Amino acid sequence: MPAKSSAYDYIIVGAGSAGCVLASRLTEDPHTRVLLLEAGGADKGLYIRIPAAFSKLYKTKLDWNYETEPEPSLHNRSLYWPRGKMLGGSSSMNAMIYARGNPLDYDHWESLGNAGWGFKDLLPYFKKSEMQQHGESAYHGGSGPLHVSDLRRVNPLTRAFLEAAEALGHPRNPDFNGAHHEGVGVYQVTQKNGRRHSCADAYLCPALTRRNLSVLTEAHAARVLVETGRARGLEYLQAGTRKTVRADREIILAGGSVNSPQLLLLSGIGPVDEVRKAGIHAVHDLPGVGKNLQDHPMVSVGYLCHEPVSMATAESIPNLLRYLLFRSGPLVSNVAEAGIFARTRPEIPVPDLQLLFGPAYYVNHGLNPRKEHCFGFGPTLLTPESRGSIKLKSANPLDPPAIRANYLSTRSDMQVIVEGVKLSRSLAHSQPFARYRGDELHPGSHVKSDEEIVEFIRNEAQTLYHPVGSCKMGSDAMAVVDHRLRVKGIEGLRVVDASVMLCITAGNTNAPTIMIAEKAADMIRAGV
Ligand SMILES: Cc1cc2nc3c(=O)[nH]c(=O)nc-3n(C[C@H](O)[C@H](O)[C@H](O)COP(=O)(O)OP(=O)(O)OC[C@H]3O[C@@H](n4cnc5c(N)ncnc54)[C@H](O)[C@@H]3O)c2cc1C
Repeated sequence: MPAKSSAYDYIIVGAGSAGCVLASRLTEDPHTRVLLLEAGGADKGLYIRIPAAFSKLYKTKLDWNYETEPEPSLHNRSLYWPRGKMLGGSSSMNAMIYARGNPLDYDHWESLGNAGWGFKDLLPYFKKSEMQQHGESAYHGGSGPLHVSDLRRVNPLTRAFLEAAEALGHPRNPDFNGAHHEGVGVYQVTQKNGRRHSCADAYLCPALTRRNLSVLTEAHAARVLVETGRARGLEYLQAGTRKTVRADREIILAGGSVNSPQLLLLSGIGPVDEVRKAGIHAVHDLPGVGKNLQDHPMVSVGYLCHEPVSMATAESIPNLLRYLLFRSGPLVSNVAEAGIFARTRPEIPVPDLQLLFGPAYYVNHGLNPRKEHCFGFGPTLLTPESRGSIKLKSANPLDPPAIRANYLSTRSDMQVIVEGVKLSRSLAHSQPFARYRGDELHPGSHVKSDEEIVEFIRNEAQTLYHPVGSCKMGSDAMAVVDHRLRVKGIEGLRVVDASVMLCITAGNTNAPTIMIAEKAADMIRAGV
Protein backbone atom coordinates (compact mmCIF):
# COMPACT_ATOMS: atom_id res chain seq x y z
CA MET A 1 0.00 0.00 0.00
CA PRO A 2 1.50 3.41 -0.90
CA ALA A 3 1.72 6.21 1.65
CA LYS A 4 -0.94 8.88 1.13
CA SER A 5 1.21 11.91 1.93
CA SER A 6 4.75 12.64 3.03
CA ALA A 7 4.14 14.45 6.29
CA TYR A 8 2.95 12.84 9.49
CA ASP A 9 2.44 13.71 13.11
CA TYR A 10 3.33 10.21 14.28
CA ILE A 11 5.21 7.33 12.73
CA ILE A 12 4.52 3.95 14.32
CA VAL A 13 7.07 1.21 13.64
CA GLY A 14 5.44 -2.23 13.60
CA ALA A 15 1.80 -3.19 12.94
CA GLY A 16 1.70 -5.87 15.63
CA SER A 17 -0.49 -6.14 18.72
CA ALA A 18 0.54 -2.73 20.06
CA GLY A 19 1.05 -0.97 16.71
CA CYS A 20 -2.48 -1.76 15.48
CA VAL A 21 -4.02 -0.43 18.71
CA LEU A 22 -1.98 2.78 18.46
CA ALA A 23 -2.75 3.36 14.78
CA SER A 24 -6.44 2.96 15.41
CA ARG A 25 -6.70 5.04 18.57
CA LEU A 26 -4.47 7.92 17.39
CA THR A 27 -6.37 8.33 14.12
CA GLU A 28 -9.71 8.59 15.92
CA ASP A 29 -8.76 12.27 15.93
CA PRO A 30 -9.20 13.24 12.24
CA HIS A 31 -6.56 15.95 12.59
CA THR A 32 -3.82 13.52 13.59
CA ARG A 33 -1.81 12.10 10.67
CA VAL A 34 -0.27 8.71 11.27
CA LEU A 35 2.05 6.50 9.26
CA LEU A 36 2.13 2.84 10.29
CA LEU A 37 5.17 1.03 8.96
CA GLU A 38 5.31 -2.77 8.87
CA ALA A 39 8.24 -4.96 7.79
CA GLY A 40 5.95 -7.86 6.88
CA GLY A 41 3.12 -8.01 4.38
CA ALA A 42 -0.64 -8.42 4.49
CA ASP A 43 -2.28 -10.91 6.85
CA LYS A 44 -3.93 -13.01 4.18
CA GLY A 45 -4.32 -16.78 4.23
CA LEU A 46 -6.41 -19.53 5.76
CA TYR A 47 -3.73 -20.58 8.22
CA ILE A 48 -4.04 -17.17 9.88
CA ARG A 49 -7.82 -17.39 10.13
CA ILE A 50 -8.24 -21.05 11.16
CA PRO A 51 -7.47 -21.15 14.89
CA ALA A 52 -5.94 -24.63 15.03
CA ALA A 53 -3.58 -23.89 12.13
CA PHE A 54 -1.31 -21.35 13.82
CA SER A 55 1.75 -23.59 13.93
CA LYS A 56 1.59 -23.89 10.14
CA LEU A 57 2.71 -20.26 10.03
CA TYR A 58 6.00 -21.17 11.70
CA LYS A 59 9.12 -20.90 9.56
CA THR A 60 7.19 -19.30 6.69
CA LYS A 61 7.66 -15.80 5.31
CA LEU A 62 5.08 -14.63 7.87
CA ASP A 63 7.52 -15.49 10.67
CA TRP A 64 10.71 -13.68 11.75
CA ASN A 65 12.00 -17.18 12.43
CA TYR A 66 14.47 -16.19 15.16
CA GLU A 67 16.90 -18.48 16.95
CA THR A 68 18.46 -17.76 20.30
CA GLU A 69 22.19 -17.98 20.89
CA PRO A 70 23.22 -21.24 22.58
CA GLU A 71 21.39 -21.39 25.93
CA PRO A 72 23.88 -22.21 28.73
CA SER A 73 21.38 -23.96 31.02
CA LEU A 74 19.78 -25.92 28.18
CA HIS A 75 22.86 -27.81 27.02
CA ASN A 76 23.78 -24.92 24.72
CA ARG A 77 20.80 -25.51 22.46
CA SER A 78 19.69 -22.64 20.21
CA LEU A 79 15.94 -22.27 20.57
CA TYR A 80 13.53 -21.42 17.79
CA TRP A 81 11.53 -18.22 18.44
CA PRO A 82 8.60 -17.58 16.09
CA ARG A 83 7.34 -13.97 15.88
CA GLY A 84 4.65 -12.70 13.53
CA LYS A 85 5.87 -10.70 10.53
CA MET A 86 2.68 -9.37 8.94
CA LEU A 87 -0.19 -7.01 9.73
CA GLY A 88 -1.26 -7.97 13.24
CA GLY A 89 2.28 -9.13 14.11
CA SER A 90 2.32 -11.93 16.65
CA SER A 91 -1.42 -11.50 17.28
CA SER A 92 -1.86 -12.95 13.77
CA MET A 93 0.02 -16.16 14.65
CA ASN A 94 -0.48 -16.64 18.39
CA ALA A 95 -2.48 -19.28 20.23
CA MET A 96 -5.24 -16.74 21.03
CA ILE A 97 -5.35 -17.33 24.80
CA TYR A 98 -6.78 -14.23 26.46
CA ALA A 99 -5.08 -13.88 29.85
CA ARG A 100 -4.34 -10.68 31.71
CA GLY A 101 -2.03 -12.10 34.35
CA ASN A 102 -2.37 -11.33 38.04
CA PRO A 103 -3.49 -7.93 39.40
CA LEU A 104 -0.46 -8.02 41.72
CA ASP A 105 1.83 -8.03 38.64
CA TYR A 106 0.75 -4.48 37.89
CA ASP A 107 0.67 -3.33 41.52
CA HIS A 108 4.31 -4.45 41.61
CA TRP A 109 5.10 -2.33 38.53
CA GLU A 110 3.50 0.65 40.24
CA SER A 111 5.35 0.02 43.51
CA LEU A 112 8.63 0.31 41.60
CA GLY A 113 7.89 3.96 40.87
CA ASN A 114 5.58 3.78 37.85
CA ALA A 115 2.63 5.97 38.75
CA GLY A 116 -0.57 5.03 36.96
CA TRP A 117 0.39 1.40 36.28
CA GLY A 118 -1.37 -0.29 39.22
CA PHE A 119 -4.14 -2.75 38.41
CA LYS A 120 -6.91 -0.34 39.42
CA ASP A 121 -5.57 2.18 36.88
CA LEU A 122 -5.18 -0.45 34.16
CA LEU A 123 -8.45 -2.35 34.46
CA PRO A 124 -10.30 0.40 32.51
CA TYR A 125 -7.85 -0.11 29.60
CA PHE A 126 -8.33 -3.88 29.61
CA LYS A 127 -12.06 -3.24 29.53
CA LYS A 128 -11.80 -0.56 26.86
CA SER A 129 -10.15 -3.01 24.48
CA GLU A 130 -12.59 -5.85 25.08
CA MET A 131 -15.77 -7.09 23.43
CA GLN A 132 -16.54 -9.83 25.92
CA GLN A 133 -18.92 -12.54 24.73
CA HIS A 134 -20.67 -12.48 28.13
CA GLY A 135 -21.07 -8.71 28.05
CA GLU A 136 -19.96 -5.88 30.28
CA SER A 137 -19.25 -6.58 33.97
CA ALA A 138 -17.02 -5.39 36.79
CA TYR A 139 -14.01 -7.04 35.15
CA HIS A 140 -14.96 -7.05 31.48
CA GLY A 141 -15.73 -4.66 28.66
CA GLY A 142 -18.66 -5.22 26.34
CA SER A 143 -18.09 -2.67 23.60
CA GLY A 144 -14.37 -2.68 22.75
CA PRO A 145 -12.88 -3.75 19.42
CA LEU A 146 -11.28 -7.07 20.46
CA HIS A 147 -13.59 -10.09 20.55
CA VAL A 148 -12.96 -12.30 23.58
CA SER A 149 -14.94 -15.51 23.27
CA ASP A 150 -15.48 -18.92 24.78
CA LEU A 151 -14.06 -21.79 22.75
CA ARG A 152 -16.82 -23.02 20.46
CA ARG A 153 -15.94 -26.65 21.07
CA VAL A 154 -14.18 -28.20 24.04
CA ASN A 155 -12.47 -31.54 23.39
CA PRO A 156 -13.45 -34.51 25.62
CA LEU A 157 -9.80 -34.79 26.66
CA THR A 158 -9.92 -31.20 27.87
CA ARG A 159 -12.98 -32.07 29.95
CA ALA A 160 -11.02 -34.95 31.46
CA PHE A 161 -8.24 -32.48 32.28
CA LEU A 162 -10.68 -30.18 34.10
CA GLU A 163 -12.03 -33.09 36.15
CA ALA A 164 -8.55 -34.40 36.89
CA ALA A 165 -7.32 -31.01 38.11
CA GLU A 166 -10.36 -30.52 40.30
CA ALA A 167 -9.84 -33.98 41.76
CA LEU A 168 -6.29 -32.95 42.66
CA GLY A 169 -7.55 -29.86 44.49
CA HIS A 170 -7.33 -27.10 41.88
CA PRO A 171 -10.56 -25.09 42.11
CA ARG A 172 -12.59 -24.67 38.94
CA ASN A 173 -12.16 -21.11 37.69
CA PRO A 174 -14.79 -19.99 35.16
CA ASP A 175 -12.92 -16.71 34.47
CA PHE A 176 -9.15 -16.37 34.83
CA ASN A 177 -9.58 -12.63 34.15
CA GLY A 178 -12.18 -12.04 36.83
CA ALA A 179 -12.05 -11.97 40.62
CA HIS A 180 -9.64 -14.92 40.89
CA HIS A 181 -6.59 -15.84 38.87
CA GLU A 182 -5.78 -19.28 40.30
CA GLY A 183 -7.44 -22.59 39.52
CA VAL A 184 -8.29 -24.66 36.47
CA GLY A 185 -10.45 -23.68 33.54
CA VAL A 186 -10.95 -23.41 29.81
CA TYR A 187 -9.26 -20.35 28.33
CA GLN A 188 -11.18 -17.60 26.63
CA VAL A 189 -9.76 -16.81 23.22
CA THR A 190 -9.39 -13.85 20.88
CA GLN A 191 -11.78 -15.25 18.28
CA LYS A 192 -14.83 -13.90 16.51
CA ASN A 193 -17.34 -16.43 15.17
CA GLY A 194 -14.77 -19.20 15.32
CA ARG A 195 -12.05 -17.25 13.49
CA ARG A 196 -8.89 -15.68 14.87
CA HIS A 197 -9.50 -12.07 15.84
CA SER A 198 -6.06 -10.47 15.64
CA CYS A 199 -5.25 -6.87 16.49
CA ALA A 200 -5.24 -6.18 12.74
CA ASP A 201 -8.81 -7.50 12.55
CA ALA A 202 -9.96 -5.74 15.70
CA TYR A 203 -8.22 -2.38 15.44
CA LEU A 204 -6.49 -1.80 12.13
CA CYS A 205 -9.02 -2.97 9.53
CA PRO A 206 -11.85 -0.73 10.78
CA ALA A 207 -9.46 2.25 10.67
CA LEU A 208 -8.09 1.66 7.17
CA THR A 209 -10.67 3.90 5.52
CA ARG A 210 -9.53 6.91 7.53
CA ARG A 211 -7.78 9.49 5.36
CA ASN A 212 -5.40 10.36 8.19
CA LEU A 213 -3.94 6.82 8.41
CA SER A 214 -1.31 5.55 5.97
CA VAL A 215 0.01 2.02 6.13
CA LEU A 216 3.24 0.93 4.47
CA THR A 217 3.89 -2.81 4.32
CA GLU A 218 7.17 -4.54 3.49
CA ALA A 219 8.92 -1.47 4.87
CA HIS A 220 11.68 -2.38 7.31
CA ALA A 221 12.64 0.40 9.73
CA ALA A 222 16.42 0.71 9.79
CA ARG A 223 17.22 3.72 11.96
CA VAL A 224 15.59 6.50 13.96
CA LEU A 225 16.97 9.87 12.87
CA VAL A 226 17.85 11.97 15.91
CA GLU A 227 18.75 15.64 15.50
CA THR A 228 19.88 17.70 18.51
CA GLY A 229 18.37 15.25 20.99
CA ARG A 230 15.02 14.87 19.24
CA ALA A 231 13.71 12.04 17.04
CA ARG A 232 12.74 13.67 13.75
CA GLY A 233 12.30 10.83 11.35
CA LEU A 234 13.04 7.32 10.27
CA GLU A 235 15.08 5.54 7.68
CA TYR A 236 13.52 2.40 6.27
CA LEU A 237 14.26 -0.17 3.62
CA GLN A 238 11.70 -1.01 0.99
CA ALA A 239 12.26 -3.06 -2.15
CA GLY A 240 16.01 -2.71 -1.75
CA THR A 241 15.93 1.07 -1.42
CA ARG A 242 16.72 3.16 1.66
CA LYS A 243 14.07 5.84 2.20
CA THR A 244 13.48 8.58 4.77
CA VAL A 245 10.27 9.81 6.34
CA ARG A 246 9.78 12.51 8.95
CA ALA A 247 7.29 13.07 11.77
CA ASP A 248 6.26 16.38 13.32
CA ARG A 249 5.49 14.99 16.77
CA GLU A 250 6.75 11.50 17.63
CA ILE A 251 8.27 8.27 16.43
CA ILE A 252 6.70 5.33 18.29
CA LEU A 253 8.52 2.00 18.29
CA ALA A 254 6.17 -0.99 18.43
CA GLY A 255 8.38 -3.65 16.86
CA GLY A 256 8.15 -6.06 19.79
CA SER A 257 10.67 -7.27 22.35
CA VAL A 258 13.30 -8.37 19.83
CA ASN A 259 13.05 -5.61 17.27
CA SER A 260 12.42 -2.47 19.31
CA PRO A 261 15.70 -2.74 21.26
CA GLN A 262 17.47 -3.72 18.03
CA LEU A 263 16.17 -0.58 16.31
CA LEU A 264 17.25 1.62 19.22
CA LEU A 265 20.75 0.11 19.09
CA LEU A 266 20.90 0.55 15.31
CA SER A 267 20.01 4.21 15.92
CA GLY A 268 22.92 4.67 18.31
CA ILE A 269 20.73 4.63 21.42
CA GLY A 270 21.89 2.06 23.96
CA PRO A 271 24.98 0.97 25.89
CA VAL A 272 27.63 3.12 24.27
CA ASP A 273 30.31 0.38 24.17
CA GLU A 274 27.97 -2.10 22.46
CA VAL A 275 26.81 0.48 19.94
CA ARG A 276 30.38 1.49 19.04
CA LYS A 277 31.50 -2.13 18.86
CA ALA A 278 28.94 -2.63 16.09
CA GLY A 279 30.45 0.31 14.21
CA ILE A 280 27.51 2.62 14.88
CA HIS A 281 27.79 6.28 15.86
CA ALA A 282 26.67 6.58 19.49
CA VAL A 283 23.82 9.06 19.87
CA HIS A 284 22.78 8.53 23.48
CA ASP A 285 24.15 6.25 26.20
CA LEU A 286 21.25 4.21 27.57
CA PRO A 287 22.66 1.12 29.29
CA GLY A 288 19.35 -0.74 29.72
CA VAL A 289 18.51 -1.12 26.01
CA GLY A 290 18.24 -4.84 25.25
CA LYS A 291 18.75 -5.89 28.86
CA ASN A 292 16.18 -7.36 31.27
CA LEU A 293 14.78 -9.78 28.64
CA GLN A 294 12.31 -12.22 30.20
CA ASP A 295 10.25 -15.07 28.82
CA HIS A 296 8.12 -18.01 29.91
CA PRO A 297 9.90 -21.33 29.27
CA MET A 298 7.79 -24.46 28.82
CA VAL A 299 8.31 -28.18 28.38
CA SER A 300 5.91 -30.69 26.80
CA VAL A 301 4.76 -33.78 28.69
CA GLY A 302 2.99 -36.03 26.18
CA TYR A 303 0.95 -39.23 26.14
CA LEU A 304 -0.50 -41.56 23.58
CA CYS A 305 -4.29 -41.61 23.71
CA HIS A 306 -6.31 -44.86 23.53
CA GLU A 307 -9.45 -43.27 22.11
CA PRO A 308 -9.72 -41.49 18.72
CA VAL A 309 -10.78 -38.15 20.19
CA SER A 310 -7.66 -35.97 19.98
CA MET A 311 -6.81 -33.46 17.26
CA ALA A 312 -4.79 -36.01 15.27
CA THR A 313 -7.50 -36.08 12.59
CA ALA A 314 -8.42 -32.39 12.81
CA GLU A 315 -7.14 -31.71 9.31
CA SER A 316 -9.33 -34.30 7.54
CA ILE A 317 -11.43 -33.11 4.60
CA PRO A 318 -14.73 -33.50 6.54
CA ASN A 319 -13.31 -31.43 9.40
CA LEU A 320 -12.08 -28.77 7.00
CA LEU A 321 -15.56 -28.62 5.45
CA ARG A 322 -17.18 -28.45 8.89
CA TYR A 323 -14.95 -25.53 9.67
CA LEU A 324 -15.43 -23.68 6.40
CA LEU A 325 -19.21 -24.21 6.26
CA PHE A 326 -20.21 -23.99 9.91
CA ARG A 327 -17.13 -22.72 11.81
CA SER A 328 -17.32 -25.82 13.93
CA GLY A 329 -15.35 -29.00 14.57
CA PRO A 330 -11.83 -29.44 15.91
CA LEU A 331 -10.30 -26.69 13.77
CA VAL A 332 -11.88 -24.01 16.00
CA SER A 333 -9.57 -25.21 18.75
CA ASN A 334 -6.62 -23.07 19.80
CA VAL A 335 -4.89 -26.39 20.75
CA ALA A 336 -3.98 -25.19 24.27
CA GLU A 337 -7.63 -25.25 25.30
CA ALA A 338 -7.37 -25.19 29.07
CA GLY A 339 -4.93 -24.66 31.89
CA ILE A 340 -4.11 -24.33 35.55
CA PHE A 341 -2.61 -21.28 37.25
CA ALA A 342 -1.02 -22.44 40.51
CA ARG A 343 1.55 -21.60 43.15
CA THR A 344 4.16 -24.30 43.68
CA ARG A 345 4.90 -22.82 47.13
CA PRO A 346 2.11 -21.50 49.38
CA GLU A 347 4.12 -18.51 50.63
CA ILE A 348 4.40 -16.78 47.21
CA PRO A 349 1.74 -14.21 46.32
CA VAL A 350 1.32 -14.88 42.58
CA PRO A 351 1.07 -18.16 40.61
CA ASP A 352 4.48 -19.26 39.37
CA LEU A 353 3.19 -22.19 37.29
CA GLN A 354 0.89 -22.22 34.29
CA LEU A 355 0.10 -25.74 33.18
CA LEU A 356 -1.39 -25.73 29.70
CA PHE A 357 -3.33 -28.67 28.34
CA GLY A 358 -3.90 -29.63 24.71
CA PRO A 359 -5.72 -32.58 23.11
CA ALA A 360 -2.81 -32.90 20.71
CA TYR A 361 0.85 -33.79 20.28
CA TYR A 362 2.60 -30.44 20.70
CA VAL A 363 6.33 -31.12 20.91
CA ASN A 364 8.94 -28.98 19.14
CA HIS A 365 6.31 -26.31 18.41
CA GLY A 366 4.09 -28.87 16.69
CA LEU A 367 6.63 -29.08 13.85
CA ASN A 368 6.89 -32.91 14.07
CA PRO A 369 3.26 -34.07 14.08
CA ARG A 370 2.40 -37.72 14.86
CA LYS A 371 -0.36 -39.75 13.26
CA GLU A 372 -1.47 -41.39 16.53
CA HIS A 373 -3.94 -39.77 18.91
CA CYS A 374 -2.11 -38.01 21.75
CA PHE A 375 -2.62 -35.44 24.47
CA GLY A 376 -0.16 -33.28 26.32
CA PHE A 377 0.59 -30.88 29.15
CA GLY A 378 2.77 -27.78 28.99
CA PRO A 379 4.17 -26.84 32.40
CA THR A 380 5.41 -23.26 32.13
CA LEU A 381 7.40 -21.03 34.48
CA LEU A 382 5.50 -17.77 35.00
CA THR A 383 7.79 -15.77 37.28
CA PRO A 384 11.35 -16.26 36.00
CA GLU A 385 14.30 -14.89 37.97
CA SER A 386 16.52 -15.42 34.91
CA ARG A 387 17.21 -12.40 32.72
CA GLY A 388 18.51 -12.35 29.14
CA SER A 389 19.47 -9.79 26.52
CA ILE A 390 19.15 -8.58 22.94
CA LYS A 391 22.41 -7.35 21.39
CA LEU A 392 23.48 -6.39 17.90
CA LYS A 393 25.36 -8.93 15.85
CA SER A 394 25.98 -6.41 13.10
CA ALA A 395 25.05 -2.93 11.95
CA ASN A 396 22.90 -4.36 9.15
CA PRO A 397 19.23 -3.83 10.09
CA LEU A 398 18.27 -6.95 8.16
CA ASP A 399 20.53 -9.20 10.26
CA PRO A 400 18.83 -10.75 13.30
CA PRO A 401 20.19 -9.62 16.66
CA ALA A 402 21.78 -11.94 19.23
CA ILE A 403 18.99 -13.21 21.49
CA ARG A 404 20.02 -14.65 24.85
CA ALA A 405 17.03 -15.76 26.90
CA ASN A 406 19.25 -17.30 29.58
CA TYR A 407 16.42 -19.66 30.45
CA LEU A 408 16.32 -21.54 33.77
CA SER A 409 19.61 -20.15 35.00
CA THR A 410 18.55 -20.34 38.66
CA ARG A 411 17.69 -23.40 40.72
CA SER A 412 14.27 -22.10 41.70
CA ASP A 413 13.33 -21.35 38.07
CA MET A 414 14.15 -24.94 37.18
CA GLN A 415 12.32 -26.32 40.22
CA VAL A 416 8.99 -24.79 39.13
CA ILE A 417 9.06 -26.73 35.86
CA VAL A 418 10.14 -29.91 37.67
CA GLU A 419 7.04 -29.52 39.87
CA GLY A 420 4.99 -28.92 36.73
CA VAL A 421 6.22 -32.15 35.13
CA LYS A 422 5.26 -34.05 38.29
CA LEU A 423 1.83 -32.40 38.36
CA SER A 424 1.32 -33.32 34.69
CA ARG A 425 2.04 -36.94 35.50
CA SER A 426 -0.32 -36.92 38.49
CA LEU A 427 -3.06 -35.54 36.27
CA ALA A 428 -2.42 -38.10 33.54
CA HIS A 429 -2.56 -40.92 36.11
CA SER A 430 -5.78 -39.71 37.73
CA GLN A 431 -9.11 -41.44 37.19
CA PRO A 432 -10.59 -39.05 34.55
CA PHE A 433 -7.72 -39.91 32.17
CA ALA A 434 -7.82 -43.68 32.86
CA ARG A 435 -9.74 -44.54 29.68
CA TYR A 436 -7.54 -42.34 27.49
CA ARG A 437 -4.01 -42.68 28.83
CA GLY A 438 -1.53 -44.67 26.74
CA ASP A 439 2.24 -44.72 27.05
CA GLU A 440 4.07 -41.62 28.21
CA LEU A 441 6.00 -40.32 25.18
CA HIS A 442 7.73 -37.35 26.88
CA PRO A 443 9.72 -37.58 29.05
CA GLY A 444 8.94 -41.34 29.11
CA SER A 445 8.51 -43.61 32.11
CA HIS A 446 12.27 -44.26 32.34
CA VAL A 447 12.70 -40.67 33.60
CA LYS A 448 12.02 -40.89 37.34
CA SER A 449 14.24 -38.90 39.70
CA ASP A 450 14.31 -35.11 39.97
CA GLU A 451 17.78 -35.15 38.40
CA GLU A 452 16.45 -37.09 35.42
CA ILE A 453 13.53 -34.67 35.05
CA VAL A 454 15.96 -31.73 35.13
CA GLU A 455 17.99 -33.40 32.39
CA PHE A 456 14.81 -33.87 30.32
CA ILE A 457 13.99 -30.18 30.77
CA ARG A 458 17.50 -29.12 29.73
CA ASN A 459 17.09 -31.21 26.57
CA GLU A 460 13.52 -30.26 25.68
CA ALA A 461 12.44 -26.87 27.12
CA GLN A 462 11.21 -24.34 24.59
CA THR A 463 9.68 -20.86 24.61
CA LEU A 464 6.01 -20.21 25.30
CA TYR A 465 6.51 -17.21 22.97
CA HIS A 466 6.29 -14.39 25.53
CA PRO A 467 9.50 -12.30 25.37
CA VAL A 468 9.14 -8.99 27.22
CA GLY A 469 11.15 -6.46 29.16
CA SER A 470 14.01 -5.52 26.80
CA CYS A 471 13.13 -1.77 26.88
CA LYS A 472 11.83 -1.67 30.40
CA MET A 473 9.86 1.14 31.94
CA GLY A 474 11.01 2.66 35.22
CA SER A 475 13.04 5.23 37.03
CA ASP A 476 16.25 3.30 37.75
CA ALA A 477 19.49 3.53 35.78
CA MET A 478 18.62 0.50 33.62
CA ALA A 479 15.18 1.79 32.59
CA VAL A 480 14.82 2.61 28.90
CA VAL A 481 11.50 4.44 29.03
CA ASP A 482 9.79 6.43 31.76
CA HIS A 483 6.30 5.71 33.04
CA ARG A 484 4.90 7.58 30.04
CA LEU A 485 6.89 5.25 27.79
CA ARG A 486 9.13 8.09 26.55
CA VAL A 487 12.68 7.01 25.73
CA LYS A 488 14.96 8.56 28.33
CA GLY A 489 17.14 11.35 27.07
CA ILE A 490 15.58 11.61 23.59
CA GLU A 491 12.60 13.80 22.84
CA GLY A 492 9.82 12.71 20.52
CA LEU A 493 10.52 8.98 20.85
CA ARG A 494 8.50 6.32 22.68
CA VAL A 495 8.46 2.56 22.89
CA VAL A 496 5.01 1.00 23.14
CA ASP A 497 4.96 -2.79 23.03
CA ALA A 498 5.68 -5.88 25.14
CA SER A 499 9.28 -4.75 25.63
CA VAL A 500 8.33 -2.07 28.16
CA MET A 501 7.08 -4.54 30.78
CA LEU A 502 9.52 -4.32 33.65
CA CYS A 503 8.55 -7.75 34.98
CA ILE A 504 6.75 -10.37 32.96
CA THR A 505 3.09 -10.93 33.83
CA ALA A 506 1.88 -14.24 35.25
CA GLY A 507 0.04 -15.26 32.11
CA ASN A 508 0.10 -14.93 28.34
CA THR A 509 1.24 -11.55 27.12
CA ASN A 510 -1.06 -10.42 24.32
CA ALA A 511 -3.83 -8.89 26.47
CA PRO A 512 -1.27 -6.99 28.60
CA THR A 513 0.42 -5.65 25.45
CA ILE A 514 -2.90 -4.44 24.07
CA MET A 515 -3.66 -2.79 27.41
CA ILE A 516 -0.25 -1.04 27.35
CA ALA A 517 -0.99 0.35 23.89
CA GLU A 518 -4.48 1.50 24.90
CA LYS A 519 -2.99 3.41 27.84
CA ALA A 520 -0.16 4.79 25.70
CA ALA A 521 -2.63 6.07 23.08
CA ASP A 522 -4.53 7.88 25.82
CA MET A 523 -1.32 9.46 27.15
CA ILE A 524 -0.18 10.50 23.67
CA ARG A 525 -3.56 12.02 22.82
CA ALA A 526 -3.55 13.87 26.14
CA GLY A 527 -0.12 15.25 25.26
CA VAL A 528 1.68 13.63 28.19
C1 LIG B 1 3.49 -18.52 18.31
C2 LIG B 1 3.01 -17.55 19.36
C3 LIG B 1 2.00 -17.93 20.23
C4 LIG B 1 1.56 -17.04 21.21
N1 LIG B 1 0.45 -17.35 21.94
C5 LIG B 1 -0.11 -16.42 22.75
C6 LIG B 1 -1.37 -16.64 23.36
O1 LIG B 1 -2.02 -17.66 23.17
N2 LIG B 1 -1.87 -15.66 24.16
C7 LIG B 1 -1.17 -14.51 24.42
O2 LIG B 1 -1.65 -13.69 25.21
N3 LIG B 1 0.02 -14.27 23.83
C8 LIG B 1 0.54 -15.18 22.98
N4 LIG B 1 1.70 -14.90 22.32
C9 LIG B 1 2.41 -13.64 22.63
C10 LIG B 1 1.72 -12.40 22.07
O3 LIG B 1 1.22 -12.63 20.79
C11 LIG B 1 2.75 -11.26 22.09
O4 LIG B 1 3.13 -11.01 23.45
C12 LIG B 1 2.21 -9.95 21.52
O5 LIG B 1 1.68 -10.15 20.24
C13 LIG B 1 3.37 -8.94 21.46
O6 LIG B 1 2.93 -7.78 20.83
P1 LIG B 1 3.97 -6.67 20.32
O7 LIG B 1 3.15 -5.55 19.80
O8 LIG B 1 4.93 -6.40 21.40
O9 LIG B 1 4.80 -7.38 19.16
P2 LIG B 1 4.31 -8.05 17.81
O10 LIG B 1 2.86 -8.37 17.85
O11 LIG B 1 5.25 -9.16 17.53
O12 LIG B 1 4.46 -6.90 16.72
C14 LIG B 1 5.66 -6.37 16.26
C15 LIG B 1 5.44 -5.94 14.81
O13 LIG B 1 6.49 -5.09 14.41
C16 LIG B 1 6.94 -5.49 13.12
N5 LIG B 1 8.33 -5.07 13.03
C17 LIG B 1 9.36 -5.53 13.78
N6 LIG B 1 10.50 -4.90 13.43
C18 LIG B 1 10.19 -4.02 12.45
C19 LIG B 1 10.95 -3.09 11.70
N7 LIG B 1 12.27 -2.93 11.88
N8 LIG B 1 10.31 -2.35 10.77
C20 LIG B 1 8.98 -2.48 10.58
N9 LIG B 1 8.20 -3.37 11.27
C21 LIG B 1 8.81 -4.12 12.21
C22 LIG B 1 6.74 -6.99 13.14
O14 LIG B 1 6.73 -7.55 11.84
C23 LIG B 1 5.41 -7.11 13.85
O15 LIG B 1 4.32 -6.98 12.97
C24 LIG B 1 2.18 -15.76 21.34
C25 LIG B 1 3.20 -15.39 20.45
C26 LIG B 1 3.61 -16.26 19.47
C27 LIG B 1 4.69 -15.84 18.52
